[in-house]
Amino acid sequence: MLPDTAIEKKTTFDPQKARRDFPLLKQTAYGKPLIYFDNAATSQKPQMVIDELTKYYTEYNANIHRGVHYLSQKASQEFDDVRVKAQQFINAQSQKEIVFVRGTTEAINLVASSYGRKNISAGDEIIISAMEHHSNIVPWQMLCEEKKVVLKVIPMNDNGELLIDEFEKLISPKTKFIAVVHISNSLGTINPVKQIIVKAHQHNIPVLVDGAQSVVHTPVDVQELDCDFFAFSGHKMFGPTGIGCLYGKLHLLEDMPPYQGGGEMIHSVSFAKTTYNEVPFKFEAGTPNIADVIALGTAFDYIQSLNRKAIADYESELTEYASAKLKDIESIRLIGTAKEKASVVSFIIEGVNALDAGMYLDTMGIAVRTGHHCTEPVMDRFKIPGTIRASFLFYNTKEEIDVMVEGVKKAIALLKKKN
Ligand code: PMP
Repeated sequence: MLPDTAIEKKTTFDPQKARRDFPLLKQTAYGKPLIYFDNAATSQKPQMVIDELTKYYTEYNANIHRGVHYLSQKASQEFDDVRVKAQQFINAQSQKEIVFVRGTTEAINLVASSYGRKNISAGDEIIISAMEHHSNIVPWQMLCEEKKVVLKVIPMNDNGELLIDEFEKLISPKTKFIAVVHISNSLGTINPVKQIIVKAHQHNIPVLVDGAQSVVHTPVDVQELDCDFFAFSGHKMFGPTGIGCLYGKLHLLEDMPPYQGGGEMIHSVSFAKTTYNEVPFKFEAGTPNIADVIALGTAFDYIQSLNRKAIADYESELTEYASAKLKDIESIRLIGTAKEKASVVSFIIEGVNALDAGMYLDTMGIAVRTGHHCTEPVMDRFKIPGTIRASFLFYNTKEEIDVMVEGVKKAIALLKKKN
């Protein structure tokens, strides 16, 4: 059965209908209606995704690929079908270009460890940006430390926009890899990744795009982007935790050594010599996360059933609405005011600790996130310890934003007095 939201394909967007797809949104917190503004950390799940998990465990739980029996064949078929759905979701050329991983973090670690170790060596340079999530910093730093490679960082301006001229100056004959975030989780900035990729390819440098925040807000076409690698997590796009995808161009994946050893990733094993399976299985050692892959397939179905243009327009409306209301409050400073921005509003309240404000909002049933959002260098850039972050999806409403804004005003009245 198609979700309620599918009906919205032909009309303007109605968040109330969308909310019916998400059972958790009916919850209360401390007796108050729950307002969930922590979507950049993880999205809520539609009923059809939850049902799929139950269905797998109640109807056809079995290990896949080596079983001749009915259950194993059914589970294998459902699992394999999701690779095709993932391929279609990001328009990869072949399903072999999709590797199932635990999430964005594991995808980036896989590339740094496998591609990086093979192709990047002492004296080479890697470029990342000033607004990367820790998961697109630390794996590269680990490689740099091991191989004596230099990490260079694309700077940004006070609005949280990357300085593309500076990026071009960073490129040198020693640059061997570029890894950049598509949409920043702490600032909301939508980066000009296509422009970065075009420039990088003029110098034959491969580019990895961290799509953790982008796939849920905007359709992604990896062939159109021409990125070499693309990483995303299922749990931020209505799927379960513990599952995500790494896309890699086939010739690159084929040329990369395995990431982990074990079952599934081998062609044959003997004590004298082991040969490896073909791509993508070469990178999927051990029993995979079968249930979550299958439910991720349902999350793809869910997203594909939506009117994505109407949703994107509605989400920008929410972001602009919240930004305008918060900006009007004295002592609030928005962090991340890029022209191209997605559904994140990060702010600080002068004189009020972000954590205290977050805890106060929590007592009102409002879930925001406070702190550095795994982007400590971003906080350093703005010389702040952290922000309060409200991040939206299409099931959020302007009424919820009004409640948060009132909560923020109360928090200021209460907490600023004490300071
Ligand atoms: N990159 C970005 C931009 C993110 O927002 C996140 C999650 N907050 C990650 C990477 C890491 O994703 P995961 O924890 O699902 O591996």
